[in-house]
Amino acid sequence: MASSSVKVAVRVRPFNNRETNCGAKCVIQMQDKSTCIANPKQPKDTPKSFTFDYSYWSHSTEDPSFTSQRQVYLDIGEEMLLHAFEGYNVCIFAYGQTGAGKSYTMMGKQEPNQQGIIPQLCEDLFRRTAENTDPDLSFSVEVSYMEIYCERVRDLLNPKCRGPLRVREHPIMGPYVEDLSKMAVTDYSDIADLMDCGNKARTVAATNMNETSSRSHAVFTILFTQHRHDQMTNLDTEKVSKISLVDLAGSERADSSGAKGMRLKEGANINKSLTTLGKVISALADMQSTKKRKSDFIPYRDSVLTWLLRENLGGNSRTAMIAALSPADINYEETLSTLRYADRAK
Ligand code: ADP
Repeated sequence: MASSSVKVAVRVRPFNNRETNCGAKCVIQMQDKSTCIANPKQPKDTPKSFTFDYSYWSHSTEDPSFTSQRQVYLDIGEEMLLHAFEGYNVCIFAYGQTGAGKSYTMMGKQEPNQQGIIPQLCEDLFRRTAENTDPDLSFSVEVSYMEIYCERVRDLLNPKCRGPLRVREHPIMGPYVEDLSKMAVTDYSDIADLMDCGNKARTVAATNMNETSSRSHAVFTILFTQHRHDQMTNLDTEKVSKISLVDLAGSERADSSGAKGMRLKEGANINKSLTTLGKVISALADMQSTKKRKSDFIPYRDSVLTWLLRENLGGNSRTAMIAALSPADINYEETLSTLRYADRAK
């Protein structure tokens, strides 16, 4: 098999209280890279089996195969960060049903050893730049944080900006969001403060609009620039990498929650971006495996999310996807659909 530019991991979380209280059974099994799911309604059927770059068992902390936040970072976050240092654009996104563990994987918690990929990657980025001993090399880091809800973009670093921002296209740089705040940061604590403000803005906006943040995509972007000054020639060069870290909206289908009116529209929009993202990624994976270069067949324009991530998904970029899974029989249908989505991205 040709090596794909998309790394795909799945991760199963522990039971939550609701699942424990209703006596849920675990339908997921993992061994090495393979993940099996058993249909609780057809216990005699052979479980469906899938293979990914990583299958993370984070179901029971007592289990020796439990995968820690650190390990997930070392496998996926660090690799993507190293690609950014090489000058690639990178994108890591978390997909899955609401409550399956996307935010835990991307952001994590404040407690020791509970930090997710984003804080670990930011810390690692500044640690590596601080260790640089090359006098000709310097770095700059800028961040932005936005939310896409119903195909509209909201700036999470500028809570005063109420209305949606316009999405435009730059002839060279590609699609971008007009007037989106970009903050220069010099250490990890700057980023931590900004993320904190952004996450609060996200929750407040969601409450005001009578929605929940699980219905929007949160896109945290780090613009990482490496400046080189060549003493011999007196020439300055720059290598710019865009690192996009995306916590996607919950993938549960609108029809399963009996949605009507606005909720249905919302569901359709979420599905549109997630379906388009799936199509874009599998088109890219096909292109990679067949070595075709038909980028005009990739439907970036079909959703705001994929349009804005265009420079992070195709061409000069590296992508990783982590699909978050509930272990419980009661979520079987959603979990199976998450596994199928992840399978198509390979
Ligand atoms: P989502 O972002 O997909 O809606 P969350 O990340 O908020 O879901 O996860 C729901 C709950 O499950 C949270 O309380 C979170 O701490 C817990 N959780 C999720 N994944 C894990 C994991 N791998 N290990 C331990 N707890 C987890």
